[in-house]
This record gives sequence, structure tokens and C-alpha cells, in this order.
Amino acid sequence: MPAVSDSPASPLRHDWSREEVRALFDLPFPELLHRAGTVHRTHFDPAQVQVSTLLSIKTGGCPEDCGYCPQAARYHTGVDATKLMATEAVVEKAKQAKAAGASRFCMGAAWRSPKDRDIPKVAAMIAEVKALGLETCATLGMLSGEQARALKDAGLDYYNHNLDTAPEFYGEVIHTREYQDRLDTLGHVRDVGMKTCCGGIVGMGEQREQRAGLMQTLANLPAHPDSVPINRLVQVEGTPLAGTAQLDPFEFVRTIAIARILMPKSMVRLSAGRETMSDELQALCFLAGANSIFYGEKLLTTGNPDTERDMALFNRLGLMPMPVVEQGETVHADILETTDVAARDTHAVSSHAVTSISCTVV
Ligand code: SF4
Repeated sequence: MPAVSDSPASPLRHDWSREEVRALFDLPFPELLHRAGTVHRTHFDPAQVQVSTLLSIKTGGCPEDCGYCPQAARYHTGVDATKLMATEAVVEKAKQAKAAGASRFCMGAAWRSPKDRDIPKVAAMIAEVKALGLETCATLGMLSGEQARALKDAGLDYYNHNLDTAPEFYGEVIHTREYQDRLDTLGHVRDVGMKTCCGGIVGMGEQREQRAGLMQTLANLPAHPDSVPINRLVQVEGTPLAGTAQLDPFEFVRTIAIARILMPKSMVRLSAGRETMSDELQALCFLAGANSIFYGEKLLTTGNPDTERDMALFNRLGLMPMPVVEQGETVHADILETTDVAARDTHAVSSHAVTSISCTVV
């Protein structure tokens, strides 16, 4: 059986073979969850779950052809393209998120890659959000080394760029850029000292072997991503992947467990697709080592039924939002109680953001 990092002193591994990952996938379900749970509680308090949020600062109209994404201009999904938001509007949203308890604010734009002329505008947003005392995160598509440097200099802490799937399945989903392009962007981000957020999507019609390939590739990156979002495909009418056979929910839980075992110190995040998961499935994911959930723009709304359902689930499971460190003090993030935040009807944007996983979420 493969060796797992089950002690804080165990070195993180970056040399997982496909056979080892395959063997983990093939374990009996209770044994796999036991191993993942052991690794999880070695490195984290299993009662704590991080809550993440995101603002779409530029929605739709993307020239790429990611087969799952409603923001690709070529698919008829009803998403209207918007221009890049004004800095003041973004800062206002960041203030709302902070008032709701958020410690990190992620900004997403539906671009293949930012144009050089976009960078100063995004850099200004980053600097102002950072000045609020929030950690900053962005997901803008592919970056050059110079762009990564400029964003880092503006105060960007995290960059999200997903691998999406295994190298050998990638061509079934995306044709307008290469797997290597994604690895290159992640390299540029690491080279300037930013933290990475990188995961993938399952349920796109791939086989278990390809889920193993995605997990192996993520774990064997030069540094484990700080956050590993695992998305379950949200099928959007009008995209090529609409109508794909549904993934067995237990296979999704297995994927979460293996992400936890392979990347013991990373935040393993339930992201797109969570809204359609039952409470029981989410609970199994937490048992398997998931310790972060993605909220889309829900933190910027009030009386959101989904938020209330999450709060009830946390209460039923005895979970709590992960405390955050703010200005040297540990404070409790009452992220689930956002009732004093100004009501905004962001449902449409939120829905698109949650389904367009690669660039604009997580
Ligand atoms: S996932 Fe990102 S790059 Fe792909 S089509 Fe959607 S917005 Fe564009």
C-alpha cells in the first residue's frame, strides 16, 4: 500500500506514481475514508471548515472553448458579457464581504488571459482590497511572468488556475490552449512567490484512471497548491458537456479523500457543484478530508436560502467556520451569519460564477 503523510513531520511527497494513486482509488470505501480522515486530523482540526467567496469582476464573452463553461462566448447559455467592473464597485463589494466576516476576497474575470492594458486596472483593485485588510486572490486566466510579477507587486496573495483534468483527457474538454500553458502559468505564479489555488473538475465523462491522473499531477507539482478545489461538473444547457453521465457520488467522495491523502496540508475545497449535493454527501466529503467550501457571491447577499441551509448543516454536523487571523489576533469568522449585509440580487452572476469553474471560481 502507498505510504501516506500521516504525521506532521512526514515530508510532503511529490513523486506519486499512477499505480499508487490507482491503488488508493481501489481501496474499500471505509478503509479509504479512514486513511484520509487520519491524515486530515493530523494536520487540521476536522471540526473547522474554511469558507471562501468570490466576485466576478468581468463575466462572460470568453474566447476559450472549455466544454463545461457557460462564459465561453461560443456557447449559447444566456450569459451576457460584461465589461471589467470599476474599481470603486469592486472595493464596495470587498467591504461587504469583510463586514460579513470574510478574510480573503477573490476576484475572477472570464479572460483567456489579461491584456497588458488590463493589468494596471486589476492591480489597482488588488491594492485597494488589500488596504482593507483582506487577503487577495484572483483568477484571470493565463499569466505571463511579467503579469504575475505586477500582480504580486500590487499585493496579490493567491492566484487560482486549475488543471481541470488529467493531461490525457484534457483534449476532450478544451482545444484552445494546451495543458502545458496551465503548468506554465502556475510556474510563473510560484516563481514570484504567490500562493497557488489549483484543482480540477470531475464528472466530465472521464474514467477513474483519469481522475487518478488529475490527482497525481496536482500532487506532483513542485509545490502542493495551498488550496485544491475539487469541482463536480455543473451541467449547463448549451455547453458541450451538458448531458454527460452523472458521476457516482461515492466516486466523488473517493476523489476528495485521495486529494486529502496526497496533499495533506492543502485546503481541499468543495466548489462548483456543491449546491446540488445532498447534506449526506457533503458530510461524507467532510469525513473524507474536505475542509473548505466555496460560497460564490452568497456572502454578498442576505437571507440567502442556500446560506441558511449551509448554516443549518454546519450546526447539525458540529462544524464551525475556520477562525481567521486578523492583524495578529485570532478572530472567529461568523461567515455564515451575514444578515446585516446589504441585500443585493447577485443570483444571476453567482450562478454563472459557480458553474464556470476554471477561471472564474475557486
Ligand atoms: S473556464 Fe475560463 S477560460 Fe474557459 S471558457 Fe470559461 S472563462 Fe474562459
